[in-house]
Amino acid sequence: MDLYEHQGKELFARHGVNVSAGKVAYTPEEAEQAAKELGGQVVVKAQVLMGGRGKAGGIKLANDPAEAKAKAEDIIGLDIKGHVVRRLWIEDASDIDREYYFSINFDRTAKMPLLMLSTEGGMDIEEVAEKTPEKLATMHVDPVWGLRAFEARQLAFQANIDADVRNKVVAMMLQLYDAFVKEDAMLVEVNPLLITPDGEVKALDSKFSVDDNALFRHPYIAEMRDVQAQDPQEQMAHEKGVTYVKLDGEVGILGNGAGLVMSTLDVIQQAGGRPANFLDVGGGATAEEIVASLEIILSDDKVRSIFFNIFGGITRCTEVAQGIITALEQLDVQVPIVVRLDGTASEEGLKMLADANLSNVTVADTMLGAAAEAVALASGTTATV
Ligand code: GDP
Ligand code: MN
Repeated sequence: MDLYEHQGKELFARHGVNVSAGKVAYTPEEAEQAAKELGGQVVVKAQVLMGGRGKAGGIKLANDPAEAKAKAEDIIGLDIKGHVVRRLWIEDASDIDREYYFSINFDRTAKMPLLMLSTEGGMDIEEVAEKTPEKLATMHVDPVWGLRAFEARQLAFQANIDADVRNKVVAMMLQLYDAFVKEDAMLVEVNPLLITPDGEVKALDSKFSVDDNALFRHPYIAEMRDVQAQDPQEQMAHEKGVTYVKLDGEVGILGNGAGLVMSTLDVIQQAGGRPANFLDVGGGATAEEIVASLEIILSDDKVRSIFFNIFGGITRCTEVAQGIITALEQLDVQVPIVVRLDGTASEEGLKMLADANLSNVTVADTMLGAAAEAVALASGTTATV
């Protein structure tokens, strides 16, 4: 789960990292009020889960509350690479002398956190990595020992961090490592890591991503999720407790068990189609869960056909059939559905479907045959397999 800059900074502060004082605002009036309370010059910063806000016009300095209000009016509603700005962070403006870069990333291949430090901050770090790789110092940290002070110093020397601020940068790296571990982060990035003209070291920006599987240990962070910013289908799935991943094809997929759903995606591809989603109703699905899952798939208007691929183990095919019948009674389903039912109680399930005489449901015997049918229906032709 990705956090907004202001949320990341709140976590930073809990671990002792120096950040500017600030306030959240949702309207120009709130931005004006925040600027008044903070006093002096402020920065009005768009809060979106996307970098490059500065270049997109999402970050502006304001000298007084009236100006903060005007800048807020400009920024709210701005589309930053597909993310619409609904929330602002108003913070005390900082004077900039130097901009460094620091990040901690979880390197899955090495199974260790990877630190990256550079004096070339503020800009695209990918560009630094590509054009002047010698200016990007990197170091793996053994998670058993954690980051030790001498290692952080070594990294600072490797990156040629200026001597006047070296100790403070080292201290901040240790605090950020502490935040990374204690909050179960997958990524912590500070760009720019700011050096002010009087030698103060500050995290001027924050990218903070927390491992979804650890959120149960951090209810406070889980609460930070902005449901408005989520994809509507994924939000629905989250509420209904269904495993759902949105993809960009036309054939809606529903299966039981992750392995079966994965191979269903493959056969759709094999039949020349593109899956619209991954949806796993899990073992022992009930009719209500089937209805809820169908609702999620149908709320995606790119879906042209749906492939139900069920292998009944714990799941009884009769429950699935009942779910389909109920869903078609309750929902206005225009999209054709291809069903492949096999395993526990499949004969009874298939009989239920046949008896219900549903006009837009086709039953197929094999997985590949069903996939071909679903792909053909999605493109408005007839199956060739
Ligand atoms: P990003 O563009 O999404 O990475 O947003 P940042 O928070 O990193 O801000 C982008 C740039 O805006 C920074 O690199 C700074 O140059 C500038 N900036 C941000 N905050 C301040 C501030 O308090 N004072 C000044 N002078 N510039 C700022
Ligand atoms: Mn930044």
